[in-house]
Amino acid sequence: MSATSISETQKKGEQLEEQKKAAEAEKSSLDNELNTVIQELQKAQDDMSAKEEQIESAENELVEAKVTENNQYESMKKRIKYMYENGNVEFIEIILSAENISDFLNKTEYVTKISEYDRDMLVEFQKTVEQVQKKEEELRAEYEELSALQTTLSEKRASVETLLSNKNIQIANLESEIGENAKVLQQLIAEAQEAERRQKEAEAAQLAAQQQAMNNNAGQNNQIQAPSGGSSTGGSTSGGVIPPSSGNVVSGSGYFTHPCPGMTYQSSYFGEIREFEVGGHKGHDYAAPEGTPTYAAAAGTVLIANYSTSAGNWVVIQHDNGLVSKYMHHSALTVSAGQRVEKGQQIGYVGSTGQSTGPHLHFQVELNGVAVNPSNYM
Ligand SMILES: [Zn+2]
Repeated sequence: MSATSISETQKKGEQLEEQKKAAEAEKSSLDNELNTVIQELQKAQDDMSAKEEQIESAENELVEAKVTENNQYESMKKRIKYMYENGNVEFIEIILSAENISDFLNKTEYVTKISEYDRDMLVEFQKTVEQVQKKEEELRAEYEELSALQTTLSEKRASVETLLSNKNIQIANLESEIGENAKVLQQLIAEAQEAERRQKEAEAAQLAAQQQAMNNNAGQNNQIQAPSGGSSTGGSTSGGVIPPSSGNVVSGSGYFTHPCPGMTYQSSYFGEIREFEVGGHKGHDYAAPEGTPTYAAAAGTVLIANYSTSAGNWVVIQHDNGLVSKYMHHSALTVSAGQRVEKGQQIGYVGSTGQSTGPHLHFQVELNGVAVNPSNYM
C-alpha cells in the first residue's frame, strides 16, 4: 500500500526541487535585469544633471546676449534722437515709432542717414540672441527626452521588482511545499517500517507457537511434568522441557566435567567481589551464545528443574558424593525434576532468564549448603 505512495511522494519531491531550481534561475536573471535597469537609470540621472547645467549656462548666455542687444538698441535710438534734434524729421519719427527691434530694423532699411555699421551691429546682436535661444530650446528638448527615458526606466524597474517579488513568493511557496512533502514522506516511511515490524512480530509469534506445540508434544511423550513452582512467575518460560541437542559431553579428569564447554569466555569467577552482591560471587559464570547446551557436571538426581525469578530456568542436581550443583539462567531445560542424569548429560540451553544481563550459565557448587569453588572439583 505505502510503497507506491512513498515512490510517488519521492517523485513529487524531486519535481518540486526541479521547479525550485528553475525559479531560482529565473530569479537570478531578473536580478541581473534589475541591476542593468538601475545602472541605466543612474546614467540617465547623470545625463540629466549634465543637461541641467548646460541649460543653466545657456540661460545665462541668453541674458547676456539680450543685454548686449538692448544696449545697442538704446544707443542707436539715442543717436537717432540726436539726428532728429538736428533736422530730418519725417523719417526719424517713423523709426522711433517702432514697436520692437525687428520693426525698428525694418524701418531703418529706408533710413540712409543711419550708419551701416550701427545697423549691422544690432543685426549681429539680434542673431546672437536667436542662436542662444535656439540652443536653449534644443537643450530643453534633450532634457525632455532624458526625462521620458527616466520615466520609462523607472517603470521598467518597478515591473522587474514586481516580477522579482513574485518570484521570491513562488520560491518560498515551493520551499514550504517541499517541506510538507518531506514530512509526508517521512511519515509514510515510518508507517512502512512499523508495518514491517508488526509483520515480523507476527511471524515470530507464529514460530514461537509452533515451537511451544512441539515442546508440549515432547513433554507428553516423556510423561514427566516439570513442577510449575510459583504460579505468578510472570511470562518467562517456566520449566518447559525440550529435547536435548547433544549427547553426553565429558571433559577433564575431575569429579566434575565442565558444564558449558561451548562457552565463549568465563565472565566471572567464584569469590569475585561485585558491587551488587553481598559476599563474593557464589559460582562461575560462563558467557555463551543463547542456546549453547549445558551439561550435568556429574551423575546425580535432578532436585529442581523449573523457573525462579532470580535464577531463571534453573536445574539443581544432587550428586552421589553429597555435593549439590546449581545451573542458572537457561533459555530452556531438557530435564525434569526427579530424573536421574549421567555425567555430561545435557540438562538445558544457555539463556538470560531471571536476574541476568546477558546469556550465560551460572554454575554453582555447594557442600553442606555452603557454596564452594567449583574449580576444586573440575
Ligand atoms: Zn553467576
